[in-house]
Amino acid sequence: MTRTRGKTTATEEIWRLLQSVPDPEIPIISIVDLGIVRDVFDEGHPVVAITPTYSGCPATEMIEQSVREVLDEAGHPDAEIRTVISPAWTTDWISDDGRRKLREYGIAPPAASAARGRGLFGGVGLAIACPRCGSTATSRVSEFGSTPCKAHYQCGACAEPFDYFKCL
Ligand SMILES: [Zn+2]
Repeated sequence: MTRTRGKTTATEEIWRLLQSVPDPEIPIISIVDLGIVRDVFDEGHPVVAITPTYSGCPATEMIEQSVREVLDEAGHPDAEIRTVISPAWTTDWISDDGRRKLREYGIAPPAASAARGRGLFGGVGLAIACPRCGSTATSRVSEFGSTPCKAHYQCGACAEPFDYFKCL
């Protein structure tokens, strides 16, 4: 079997379709922007390689379901969704576009490379910029925000409360 990696005409269409699948937790950002679509192969049928964010996020199953639906509707019932666990997803995989969208949504994107400040309790001591005014005079209100992967912060400059997407 020939295996074509990367972007061919067939896989480009799949990438486009995946770009329309939102993250269930942060619907303004697509699963492609989030970086959890690892690759799209052509193995005679399209293969979508997906890496789950992390075990604390129940969203993975929903994402697979959404991908399935989008591909079925677009006439790709033969498409295969393959879960790739290693190497693990990190917040470094969020695209620049994705980071911009997070800020516009009022969520501070991960500040540092995941190598530093990694994990649900990571990020302590990092300067987290307010997504509204950009000030780093922010303080952590609680360890967990609206979901376990976010912490709740408040800006000391403009008083804006916001979620910070932790580095994972
Ligand atoms: Zn602010």
